[in-house]
Amino acid sequence: LSASGRLPKWLKRPIPRSNANHMTAGLLDELRLETVCDNAKCPNRMECYSQQTATFMILGNTCTRPCGFCAVHRGRPPQLPEADEPERVAEAAARLGLKHVVITSVTRDDLLDGGADHFYQCVVAVRERTGATTEVLTPDFVHCKEALARVIEAKPTVFNHNMETVPRMYRRVRGPKSDYQWTLGMMKKVKEYDPGVKTKSGLMLGLGEERGELLDALADLREYGVDFLTLGQYLQPGEKYLPVVRYVPPEEFDELGEIAKQMGFTKVASGPFVRSSYHARDMAETE
Ligand code: SF4
Ligand code: SF4
Repeated sequence: LSASGRLPKWLKRPIPRSNANHMTAGLLDELRLETVCDNAKCPNRMECYSQQTATFMILGNTCTRPCGFCAVHRGRPPQLPEADEPERVAEAAARLGLKHVVITSVTRDDLLDGGADHFYQCVVAVRERTGATTEVLTPDFVHCKEALARVIEAKPTVFNHNMETVPRMYRRVRGPKSDYQWTLGMMKKVKEYDPGVKTKSGLMLGLGEERGELLDALADLREYGVDFLTLGQYLQPGEKYLPVVRYVPPEEFDELGEIAKQMGFTKVASGPFVRSSYHARDMAETE
């Protein structure tokens, strides 16, 4: 069962004209920084770059996990974390004038701490250099119990970890090492470590999840104290990736967004182009 192929009309949109997107791309190149925007072929790149927004991807561009939906290159990462990367991220954030900085990474199962200390260094460097609010979008650190505490020690404004899909489809979508209960447990632990940190999670729709399963998963997130939610359309990044089973119409995204607010999420972004870091500043801002 697949809906991949021709896009429905609501997923076609004009490309914004701007030189800022070239400037942003040039700056990232000069500072040898990776973004998840490019690596995951995010459909919002033109818009975000033209607004001088990007999500920095630290710890290299090679991921140790085989998620079926993700276009990031996978394999054995060739190098250890680069000691000057936190400063380079801070430099880029300062030169782009960012007020809210989103930092994510590939999953590094090859590192003892999963890269948690590197997240810590990046968050601290960005805050000290720019005063911006920060958001970490982390891997699951499934092999290291201490990793999450180290990340939270950096006091990011928002801790984000994506649920991505409903539990029945977890392994197929997120790979054999993923664990639904672990994901939920992480959210709870963040609040235990530091109740001041806002938690955020997101799911992609259109992979074959049923409505009831989706609502149950949202209820689970609320039960584990998650504050913010993103819901977006899954788009197949290439032929070898999981197919799109359904294109969810914009009105359904609106309706699901309303339901999520009634469930108690304080900030909700729900729409076909919503990604975890799309308009992230708006979500973090008024808190
Ligand atoms: Fe992509 Fe993250 Fe999965 Fe790696 S762990 S393949 S970066 S979604
Ligand atoms: Fe980058 Fe996020 Fe914007 Fe996509 S939505 S281009 S990942 S900042």
